[in-house]
Amino acid sequence: AKARMRGSVSVYEPEMDRQIRDRRVLHQDLSKAVKNGEISLFYQPQARGSGPNGNNEVVGFEALARWRHPTRGYVPPSDFIPLAEESGLIVELGEWILREACRQAASWANPLQVAVNLSPAQFLNSDLVSVVHTILLETGLNPRRLELEVTEGVLIEDFDRGLSLLRRLTALGVRISMDDFGSGYSSLTYLQAFPFDKIKIDRAFVMNLGHNPQSAAIVRAVIGLGHGLGVSIVAEGVETQQQLHFLVQEGCDAVQGYYIGKPHPIEHYAELVGLPEIV
Ligand code: C2E
Ligand code: CA
Ligand code: CA
Ligand code: CA
Repeated sequence: AKARMRGSVSVYEPEMDRQIRDRRVLHQDLSKAVKNGEISLFYQPQARGSGPNGNNEVVGFEALARWRHPTRGYVPPSDFIPLAEESGLIVELGEWILREACRQAASWANPLQVAVNLSPAQFLNSDLVSVVHTILLETGLNPRRLELEVTEGVLIEDFDRGLSLLRRLTALGVRISMDDFGSGYSSLTYLQAFPFDKIKIDRAFVMNLGHNPQSAAIVRAVIGLGHGLGVSIVAEGVETQQQLHFLVQEGCDAVQGYYIGKPHPIEHYAELVGLPEIV
């Protein structure tokens, strides 16, 4: 029996070893990535859903992290953000992202909104409020222009703590968005209890508009619910004119997605934000 066990283990060991080593190496790389300037921010526009004839006025951008690894090439945030979370690096990385987004937005001639994603570990860090406060002072960004996106997952962990944090952040003058609404537990209690300024309807519902009457009913209901609570609604993942049409017709306040614009370095949107020309 021992031999057989050893035999079966030996099949998996090299592969597991490799995976663990791989993760460890990637983790070491990630800890150097910020310092080496390998992390950068892309920006995706959010537009007011003005009318069916286009003319979608861009009102802000969501900052999305990108990692260009020196040998592996581009590592997507869905890979490195969880890695940063597990290792605790997210606190440092998240702070860098927040500072960078605020620094860039403060340099735009056109004072549009900038939205930054907060991950659960950042949320659990007791310094969050003072970090945000310090970065606002450092960069001189008007707090009203900063929007922090949180997922309901972080609030479930500790309701009281979440509530106190969001209230203190709101007191700084920043806006709070509930990200990926509908993808998790989405308790209505949360919407009532927490001081959200915005709800972002998850891409999954938007994707199914036109294929699935339930999705249309849910999107319509969320817009009504949000407006009833005095919260504005952004739809994510808008890829077609039909989706845009439906959302605008239903009174959705803003839209984000490939149909409006893909995430790009801010230079791509230089005219919109009023970037000083680079010479
Ligand atoms: P998210 O916050 O839900 O961000 C939206 C994601 O959907 C982005 O993927 C964006 O590129 C993608 N997307 C936008 N419009 C469309 C569309 O029309 N169609 C499709 N198919 N996709 C669209 P990305 O940039 O790969 O980011 C993935 C996730 O990684 C984000 O989801 C967010 O949870 C996380 N993330 C990204 N940047 C950061 C960051 O700076 N900090 C933290 N904590 N998380 C981040
Ligand atoms: Ca987001
Ligand atoms: Ca989202
Ligand atoms: Ca998401």
